Amino acid sequence: MSAYLELEAQRRSHPVRGALLRRAISRIRRAAQATRPLGASAAPLLPQCTDPAGLLRVLEGARRQIPHYARTLPAFDAEPERAIEAFAELPFRLRREELRRDTSSLLVPDVAGRRVVIDSKDSTLRNLGRLLRGGALIANRTAGSTGSPLHFVEERSSGLARFHAIVRELAYLGWREGEGFVLCAQRGMHSALGVADVVLRSLGFRVFLFDRMDEQMCRRVARLLRRMQPTALMGFPSCLSDMAGFLLDEGAGVPPPGFALCGGEVLFDHQRARIERAFGCPVFDTYAAHELGGPLAIECPQRDGLHVFEATHLVETEPDGEILVTTLDQCEMPLIKYKTGDRGELVVEKCPCGVEGKKLRNLDGRIEDHLLDCQGRRVYASYLRQLLHEVDEGGTGPLEGAVFRQQGAGCVRFELQPVNQALGPAALDEVARALERDLGVPAEGNLVTTLDRPSGKRRFVFREDVAPGGWTA
Ligand SMILES: [Zn+2]
Repeated sequence: MSAYLELEAQRRSHPVRGALLRRAISRIRRAAQATRPLGASAAPLLPQCTDPAGLLRVLEGARRQIPHYARTLPAFDAEPERAIEAFAELPFRLRREELRRDTSSLLVPDVAGRRVVIDSKDSTLRNLGRLLRGGALIANRTAGSTGSPLHFVEERSSGLARFHAIVRELAYLGWREGEGFVLCAQRGMHSALGVADVVLRSLGFRVFLFDRMDEQMCRRVARLLRRMQPTALMGFPSCLSDMAGFLLDEGAGVPPPGFALCGGEVLFDHQRARIERAFGCPVFDTYAAHELGGPLAIECPQRDGLHVFEATHLVETEPDGEILVTTLDQCEMPLIKYKTGDRGELVVEKCPCGVEGKKLRNLDGRIEDHLLDCQGRRVYASYLRQLLHEVDEGGTGPLEGAVFRQQGAGCVRFELQPVNQALGPAALDEVARALERDLGVPAEGNLVTTLDRPSGKRRFVFREDVAPGGWTA
């Protein structure tokens, strides 16, 4: 039996039927469109700036209402004109573990006290009822690619705000209301998806769900794209890149979407090139996090860094490049100087597109996704990105993908998945030599036809850190 199911098939087999569903859908559509206009009629996405008074309100409200901040957040009484500068100096960090340990201590009391939760464990019908009545909380979680996922709840208004933030990104890149949109998402990555599916469908958005990537899934999504001819195609870069590989192998064309928008993982140059070749459209990158309310930054047509959404997210970086985020409009669970675990370079500059402000460059993925060189220094994804790009361009590639594993600062073992196995041995040699030269550690690799890695968000660096003397290799 196929592991892949299109939403259409899922809906056909679902117990929700007929008039009841139609009424519910029209109510959702009215509610969504009444709260904020969709798409093109929204105000321009960029530029954005941070309102210092808004930041002060967030800090004051958090200290007054939220138990965790009442205990730990230092008093902050800067004048509005100096607020952002002074905030940069504030000796406070919110760690992921604190969110993982007890989410309720980070919620405003009104929300923390509510008991009705929309959860994927319940039927879609029951969840729809709760969603329409309002007041219920939506259970949500992160992908959990680097350990156990974060579980948290949000209000209906926050779910809608997340949706609108994505719609505004699409509109910024040229999608217009009424045009086709396809999101390729991995099943299980979003809780309460039964309800989300119904809501998104009612608004004309298609979610293509898959459990794992294979040829059959690629054929299905290709058929869907031919039928829908979407303007916007969205998904993880690894997922879209796998599909691109299939389309190129098969010589199977699809009508070019207006653009593809990648998010959720580091977008490698070789992936971008392949997606552009196969789908015949430009590829843009966005940076988003579930617990931070959705998208934080997006590439403009210049594609030289991602413009930060400064009105809703105050982004800073630690000296080691870790990205810190303060949410400015996440009312039920404001996150303050939240250590995202992601690395990037933050610059303030005027972009050739005309927008001046904060930009994120060289997004490097998770901070724990690194290799160690012979002196124990961290080597991040940007190095590997460049290395794989050189292999891809250098005539020994192209590559479908790669995975690197290392214990401590020992031998790097890697797997390359070349598009053409005949070209692979030269690529192996090139990567091994480069790692030995640049990191000063031994490296050995294999050619594989499929990469062995966990499902979910794709990672490409795996560390097994062991206590000194505890080598198991
Ligand atoms: Zn720009």
